[in-house]
Amino acid sequence: MILRMIHYSNFIQGQFVESTHGNVITVINPATGEAISTIPDSSDEEVAAAVNAAEVAQPEWAALPAVARAKQLHVLADTIRAQVEPLARVITEEQGKTLPLARVEVNFTADYIDYMAEWGRRIEGEIIESDRPKENIFLFHKPIGVVAGILPWNFPFFLIARKLAPALLTGNAIVLKPSEETPNNAFEFCKLLAETEIPAGLVNMVSGSGAGAGRALTENAKVGLISFTGSVDTGSRIMQTAAQHMTRVNLELGGKAPAIVTKNADLDLATTAIQASRVINSGQVCNCAERIYVQRDVAEAFTEKLVEKMNAARFGNPLEDETVDYGPMVNQAGFDKVMALLESAVNDGAQVLCGGKRGADTSGYYIEPTVVANCTQAMDIVQSEIFGPVIPIIVFDEIDEALAMANDTEYGLTSSVFSTDINEAMNCVEALKFGETYVNREHFEAMQGYHAGWRKSGIGGADGKHGLYEFMQTQVVYLQRS
Ligand code: NDP
Repeated sequence: MILRMIHYSNFIQGQFVESTHGNVITVINPATGEAISTIPDSSDEEVAAAVNAAEVAQPEWAALPAVARAKQLHVLADTIRAQVEPLARVITEEQGKTLPLARVEVNFTADYIDYMAEWGRRIEGEIIESDRPKENIFLFHKPIGVVAGILPWNFPFFLIARKLAPALLTGNAIVLKPSEETPNNAFEFCKLLAETEIPAGLVNMVSGSGAGAGRALTENAKVGLISFTGSVDTGSRIMQTAAQHMTRVNLELGGKAPAIVTKNADLDLATTAIQASRVINSGQVCNCAERIYVQRDVAEAFTEKLVEKMNAARFGNPLEDETVDYGPMVNQAGFDKVMALLESAVNDGAQVLCGGKRGADTSGYYIEPTVVANCTQAMDIVQSEIFGPVIPIIVFDEIDEALAMANDTEYGLTSSVFSTDINEAMNCVEALKFGETYVNREHFEAMQGYHAGWRKSGIGGADGKHGLYEFMQTQVVYLQRS
């Protein structure tokens, strides 16, 4: 069912601006393969126009008290809450997540904007003791200027807020580039700005390919911070580009989260949490459990329960059936990557305990919920990000063995431990080299935490006080009195 076929335009200087050259990208519904919209494949000049608009709008916005900026963010959050259903449908149509999850995403986005706005009265500088008499040393936090936000497709609406809310609250302007897979919700977001008094030019949205509009944005010398979420390869490319102008980068680059299940785990809790974090959004979440290490004593019982729960997960077209647990993979490339990892695991001796095949409805990129046993640490499926509803299992004997395998990865975003023995759990936490560790719960971060990957999972982080302060630079003032 096509909701509509629509053409979107870039949002620059508070207006939807028709592209001058007419090159477009077609957006596909991954559940059906149908074209649903076209968007501009923006030129370097169009990207530059958006950055220029942001540069002009930023100083006046920065001059406002933070609480006045916060007020507009609260208005924006309320505007989003009034539109949950239509926004959720747009997200589901282009990205493929379930409608209930899309509704959660929209509501969470509004809550996140409110949360960041609440920092308006809480940003603090410092007064530092001087070596000299009659001198004060003040440390101020100042906006950076123009922020570039480059967005992925997996939580596309929320990621707008994760970049925009801290940027605006701290006095910056922003230019956003949505993923070409999921731009529709981003342009719908821009329509909501009309309900606020956020000045024209402060928020701009330009669409296009990564190699085109994305590159042009990261090359622009007027951009002071690039905040990016996506793959390690693209993050690395962005860093190289940013080096030209010493542009700051904030990179969230995915993970390969280990989940350690010890013989002291509550197996019902562990299997429910792991199933949930592997099936949500078809497994296309950077913090999801990507590989399981289970202690031999409980391996059989754990595996049996996990297979039962994975088998129970239902998938299908999320716009036609609101009760499915997950939808299609976002695109052919994502589908092919998961199937290739599965094939190579089987060739290397792994055993598929459930699923393992394409869904019967071949109009969308569906993959059956899959559990893979007899895996070894060297297999690609254990080393590479799967980003799909597929979970490999490795059995271990001693905890140290599990910890060594868990840490044996170039990623360092999230990890988890399942054990009812608090000493055992905390000893594991201490040994795990990841930016985030969940104990006896599903993989999902809170807005007041700090989502920051180690190693190749990124630089800097998002959320909470520490994420907010990354959108500011410091100025130290030495005041000598006579
Ligand atoms: P990418 O990293 O390629 O894309 C993320 C964003 O970066 C998109 O907006 C993309 O544009 C843009 N981009 C691509 N190249 C450049 C560039 N040279 N300069 C500036 N921007 C650029 O991710 P994919 O969508 O290709 O997904 C591939 C894999 O990345 C996934 O399978 C998953 O493993 C990982 N990933 C991780 C995410 C996370 O949450 N950490 C989210 C999404 C993906 P466009 O796509 O429009 O070309």
